[in-house]
Amino acid sequence: MSFDRRPFEARGLLVVPGFIDLHAHLREPGFEESETIATGARAALRGGFTTVCAMPNTEPAIDAPGLVAQVVARAASAAGARVLPIAAITRGRRGAELCDLVELAAAGAVAFSDDGAPVSDAGLFRHALEYSRIAGALIVEHPQDLSLSAKGVMHEGSVSAELGLAGMPAAAEEAAVARDLALVKLAGARLHLTHLSTAGSVELVRRAKAEGVAVTCDVTPHHLSLTDEWVAGSRTFAWERAERNRAMPYDANTKVNPPLRSRADVRALWAGIADGTVDAIATDHAPHASIRKEVEFDQAAFGISGLETALPLVLGGVRAGWASWDAVLAALTTGPARVLGVPPPKDDWIVIDADAEWTLDGEALISKGKNTPLLGAKLTGRVVEVAVDGDLKLNEGHAAEAVGAR
Ligand SMILES: [Zn+2]
Repeated sequence: MSFDRRPFEARGLLVVPGFIDLHAHLREPGFEESETIATGARAALRGGFTTVCAMPNTEPAIDAPGLVAQVVARAASAAGARVLPIAAITRGRRGAELCDLVELAAAGAVAFSDDGAPVSDAGLFRHALEYSRIAGALIVEHPQDLSLSAKGVMHEGSVSAELGLAGMPAAAEEAAVARDLALVKLAGARLHLTHLSTAGSVELVRRAKAEGVAVTCDVTPHHLSLTDEWVAGSRTFAWERAERNRAMPYDANTKVNPPLRSRADVRALWAGIADGTVDAIATDHAPHASIRKEVEFDQAAFGISGLETALPLVLGGVRAGWASWDAVLAALTTGPARVLGVPPPKDDWIVIDADAEWTLDGEALISKGKNTPLLGAKLTGRVVEVAVDGDLKLNEGHAAEAVGAR
């Protein structure tokens, strides 16, 4: 069955290919109070993602073929987005011993990452890259020099100084990106760097690509729209001039790794999308049960629940003229498909009402993770219909539509 786009286009709605998310945490097995594969896969649909890659930092970590198969099986019965498992690079994500990438790939792993943490041992990471080249596997690295970010809980800068919070300097990410690029060259491999957040990181990747290094990268919707000022209580999007209402400072929902950065960093990420340095927009959807967020800022878990708010955030930057809709759409569809080395699904479609205004209510989120600093925010643009493999999934975006989103 093929999806009929005409009735939607006749109503002035946008019909575009389904989004592909390279980076989401679905928390199952082990943290089902925060998310399950089923709730995450349905939250993905609500956000317009018809394909979502699940990170392996579960409990246990996805480091054995049987565990990959389990994720595949649960995803098949989830009635949501297509879920593609990413397996760990090292056993137990402990950073000491490489997994058997070949057997994990045979079980269905589409990529490999110890995300949540980097592979800190440079020698081991070199071996992982050499192995990935031989095995034809994709390595996805979370670039962070843990010795530099140390006990940091937010971006290191004037705002962290003002708030008295320990900072994670931009250099903690950039030093790791520089190391990773040197190792990719040494290994003659290819590498995907996930959730880049600083101007310096984007510039390093830009230069490496110009040299012909086989590197790709993604950025997240929250790093494209929010700044470190949000930790201090700002609720003004990076592209807005006039200040909005403020929230209380130290909201743990603004705590994320990598941290929300400066406005200059946000602009640099957009410049990377505009000139093609950035290949993909990935959510780093990181749902947490409230118990892990309703604690002091220092103690709270890192992460933002992001699948269901990605579209309005990126549309904000498009409206500001920071990148074209075509460039953003490519970063949500063909870009991530190219990173994965697969053709985009032929018959995945989403219908977007770009002008729909709505207020984010945590209870209305499908994700179990209500941890987003956007609670109560007025957002513009939403996904109203989703088809996967030509089958119309009655997305709950309908409910909002019925109450006046147009
Ligand atoms: Zn990460």
